[in-house]
Amino acid sequence: MTAHYIVPPYLIEHLERTAPDPNLRARYRQALQHDAVLRPRPAATRRATQEAQQAPAAGSPKREVCDAENGTDLPGRQVRAEGEQPVQDAAVNEAYDGTGATWKMFKECFGRDSVDNAGLPLISSVHYDRDYANAFWDGSQMVFGDGDGAIFKGFTSSIDVTGHELTHGVTQHTANLAYEGQSGALNESISDVFGSLAKQHHRGQTAAEADWVIGADLFQPGVNGIGLRSMKAPGTAYDDPRLGKDPQPAHMDDFVTTTEDSGGVHINSGIPNRAFYLAAIELGGNAYGDPGKIWYQALTSGRLNANATFADFAQATRDAATELYGANSGQLAAVTKAWQQVGVEPVQQPLESADLMRAANLALDPSRLPAPSPPTQAGGPGAVPAVVPDQGARESRPGPGHGDRPGMDR
Ligand SMILES: [Zn+2]
Repeated sequence: MTAHYIVPPYLIEHLERTAPDPNLRARYRQALQHDAVLRPRPAATRRATQEAQQAPAAGSPKREVCDAENGTDLPGRQVRAEGEQPVQDAAVNEAYDGTGATWKMFKECFGRDSVDNAGLPLISSVHYDRDYANAFWDGSQMVFGDGDGAIFKGFTSSIDVTGHELTHGVTQHTANLAYEGQSGALNESISDVFGSLAKQHHRGQTAAEADWVIGADLFQPGVNGIGLRSMKAPGTAYDDPRLGKDPQPAHMDDFVTTTEDSGGVHINSGIPNRAFYLAAIELGGNAYGDPGKIWYQALTSGRLNANATFADFAQATRDAATELYGANSGQLAAVTKAWQQVGVEPVQQPLESADLMRAANLALDPSRLPAPSPPTQAGGPGAVPAVVPDQGARESRPGPGHGDRPGMDR
């Protein structure tokens, strides 16, 4: 699998084009080249697997924080293991705490033990490379840069960033959504959802209290933005001459078709992100309660195809809500409404009442009756057309497909 980065490539490209400092431009260029060639390391995967097999029974996470010491050899020198006291280095402690908060949220809310649900050790490497402005999950561990010093701070500071990256591991071990197009945007969105839930759970916040921002602590002072993405209002997270403007859509009408960013995986994720936010606000209380359980069940049910579309995932969440809470539940109604509000599920037209109103109008205004049909072969002169008002009303119905979910190739 490819590595998953929290900062999307189009954003680094914009920085590379606009940075006034040639040294900074060179760093961004280097980061882009690095990101393009990085591949998972079989050695690290084997190591993590072996440790997982030796891991004790569930009950606590098995964390390990390593210092890459501004190099790119992973995982680097181990500086803090599970149960050890905090060290002087804040980045080490933040990585330790962020992975712990994410583990705890998955365990307490959904009964999941680590990314593989089998106690996989959570390995983090901090101080990766020099002035590296990104964080990523490489298929077996977390990697954090210190930031470029101009736009980004260190990447260990936001729990939701850590939660986002670890959730890529959860997705990898469950639905394994292909990282391209709509399934890739779902992969991204699921990471934002559970990353945000890790932060909300850690803070004990309700859906109404949460900021619904990914990477709220990442920007240096002076950057015109609240974070990398807003789940509440996709497309509004930042608007800064150095970063450009947040390109996320909030509705299927604005779905972005692009070949960049693996088909816009960090862009169109705004649509399912907002669906989760809307469902959580509609239901009230903690988003890591019922809404989180529904999304988690949809992700882990085994019925989701690796190439699932937004509509497939919407159906999976509706199925999950039905299984968990029943077909007449408020949870199912809230989930359905949320997907309708972002244009993924069709809005059910109240056709019966529309027909009745049309018929009533016709009865009140005879001039609007359709002209009598010409005599049919069978009828002969004087034959009365059968049930004319009903036919008129029927023709006024939207044709099949009208109001349906927009085409997936837009
Ligand atoms: Zn991601």
